[in-house]
Amino acid sequence: MVANRDYEPYARQRDKSVYAQLQGEQIGFRAFKDHVIFEKNEVVKADGTPYTVFTPYSKKWKAELTDFYTKSYPVERYTQNLRQVENPSAILTLNQMGFDETQQVDFPSMNIDEELLRHYDQTRDIPSIQGTSRLSIHLRFGTISIRQLVTTALSTNSKFLDELIWRDFYQMIIYHFPHSATGSFRPAYDRIRWENNEEHFRLWCEGKTGYPLVDAGMRELLAKGFMHNRIRMVTASFLTKHLLIDWRWGETWFAEKLLDYELGSNVGGWQWAAGSGCDAAPYFRVFNPTSQQQKFDPDFTYIKKWVPEFGTTNYPEPIVDHATARLQAIQRYKEGLV
Ligand SMILES: Cc1cc2nc3c(=O)[nH]c(=O)nc-3n(C[C@H](O)[C@H](O)[C@H](O)COP(=O)(O)OP(=O)(O)OC[C@H]3O[C@@H](n4cnc5c(N)ncnc54)[C@H](O)[C@@H]3O)c2cc1C
Repeated sequence: MVANRDYEPYARQRDKSVYAQLQGEQIGFRAFKDHVIFEKNEVVKADGTPYTVFTPYSKKWKAELTDFYTKSYPVERYTQNLRQVENPSAILTLNQMGFDETQQVDFPSMNIDEELLRHYDQTRDIPSIQGTSRLSIHLRFGTISIRQLVTTALSTNSKFLDELIWRDFYQMIIYHFPHSATGSFRPAYDRIRWENNEEHFRLWCEGKTGYPLVDAGMRELLAKGFMHNRIRMVTASFLTKHLLIDWRWGETWFAEKLLDYELGSNVGGWQWAAGSGCDAAPYFRVFNPTSQQQKFDPDFTYIKKWVPEFGTTNYPEPIVDHATARLQAIQRYKEGLV
């Protein structure tokens, strides 16, 4: 049997037990790298330990990259002797695996828009336009090749290449630090005393916090199963810092709603925002959702698309005051980290 490697803790455990079971039946099991450019220990520090900071990792990643890593692998010699499944009807259907085939989901196109990528560094932070590739769902499900995408990135935009390297980085982190799937990457952060106010959490999930950029993002997530990266950072920062709600609550909500959900990047993004992750935002950096709006959605285009009642009396007052919440967050983090 052959399979592509998956670096998440659950998948590794699953593959290990499949391997053991097949071995008992004298059936071979071979796993290959597929969905990343560099895996596991292919990009590590000089002393062989994994990187935990992105910039030196990406430097080494770029230095290691040769044509070999971006061209297709000749798989025929591995597959020609494989036996066909004797009883294909024994293979689980999508329904049996828990997928709903009747869903009419509006998937982003698989088309790689090179013109868009050429301007990516200037457009990537503007949530009201299509300034990013929207290929995350295809990368997540393997309907697009990372090798093809890196090849395109090399000839179009170095910033876009950097984002693809973040993806490899988080796959490497989840492989070497599986504890970070459920606990803080830096264990000291597990001592933070969260408020975990359930009413605040509900309002955040529903996009009713009274902070329009946060609310627009949360409603985009509910409607589309997608959220722009800048807004993922703003909403995650708001939940963990302004509301002092455990990042795992937010991570779980995103996992449930995102069509591109993928453990390594989701946990990485959440712990970055919470300050508890590798190479994370420092805990005292608290995004101001109002200045983020002024910078990235100055004419409220994105906000008005997702929050039509914004600016009317039907729109709620902010559930917390930014200045007070910011000071409280810094104080609470400080207490936890001593
Ligand atoms: C709190 C939080 C949660 C996130 N959860 C996920 C998740 O579950 N799944 C997921 O694929 N990405 C996640 N991201 C990363 C990023 O937001 C999405 O990959 C991106 O918004 C997808 O849109 P795009 O395809 O247009 O990205 P583009 O900007 O076009 O980037 C191209 C590709 O690079 C990769 N990429 C871009 N940014 C990142 C990043 N910061 N970390 C890792 N890979 C990146 C993605 O595969 C993406 O499709 C998360 C970020 C944050 C802050």
